[in-house]
Amino acid sequence: MSDFTQPVDATEATACPPLFRDAPASVSFKKLRKRLLREVRDTIARSAMVEASGERPRWLVCLSGGKDSYTLLAVLLDLKWRGVLPVDLLACNLDQAQPGFPAHILPEFFQTHDIAHRIVRQDTYSIVVDKVPEGKTYCSLCSRLRRGHLYRIAREEGCSAIVLGHHREDALETFFMNLFFGGRLSSMPPKLLNDDGDLLVLRPLISSSEEDIARYAKAMEFPIIPCDLCGSQDGLQRAQVKAMMAEWERATPGRLSVMARALANVRASHLHDPALFDFAGLMASSHAGADAREDSEPCGAALAMTGRLFAAE
Ligand code: SF4
Repeated sequence: MSDFTQPVDATEATACPPLFRDAPASVSFKKLRKRLLREVRDTIARSAMVEASGERPRWLVCLSGGKDSYTLLAVLLDLKWRGVLPVDLLACNLDQAQPGFPAHILPEFFQTHDIAHRIVRQDTYSIVVDKVPEGKTYCSLCSRLRRGHLYRIAREEGCSAIVLGHHREDALETFFMNLFFGGRLSSMPPKLLNDDGDLLVLRPLISSSEEDIARYAKAMEFPIIPCDLCGSQDGLQRAQVKAMMAEWERATPGRLSVMARALANVRASHLHDPALFDFAGLMASSHAGADAREDSEPCGAALAMTGRLFAAE
């Protein structure tokens, strides 16, 4: 695997992209940049995001103007420059006509840094305000409408995937929202096929921490567009989950990283879903050696209860 100090494929390598000409030269930034490059490259490889066959893929990289999507685009451009991402990238912003949206910022950013892009203005904001009852949050309908337009644009542009900037904390938040309020174990996958089966949804930042992304975006001085223009707010439940996760991380640093590892380390045989594990087909083959095959997990609570039971006699 490359150490990310040099382009590894001469046919892919080009001059340093304008975006990185003024990148900070500090050791701490170089380490951060390298860590994000490594994580994203690993995530792309693990989920085989770059199709091996046929034509060179083209990805629609979706930018809202927040720190996550700027960082996503920068890391992908960096990997491409280093010759380890043989994909054509088209940056895309869907201007949803939220009041006060500074429509000049992203076009200027793309032009200044010579980044291939497409800007589409589509007033989904009016539809959302019209349809969502008073007091309810807009996000669910807003994101569904946005996703539909992004699929359309990807098809028009001949892209095989839309690429989103969700990160580790987004995946964990979704996991806990589904667990606490949805009654299911599921999160955001790194790679998903849309319902029509013609486009992939990719999340190359899904293993990277929000803190690293925020530090990177700040150091690169991306022109961030505030995310509260729509006037909607996170629901109470999501705010509770965010606060809970922040408190866990504060009390035990590193816990989010451990929990994120669990999303990629699932034991279907130790959950309760017969669609994932064939409990009905689980049979003891013979009595010989049965002791050795018994569930070897210690059960401290049962042992303690048994101890108390006999102690009381
Ligand atoms: S925060 Fe605003 S723009 Fe973002 S999904 Fe929710 S309603 Fe849409």
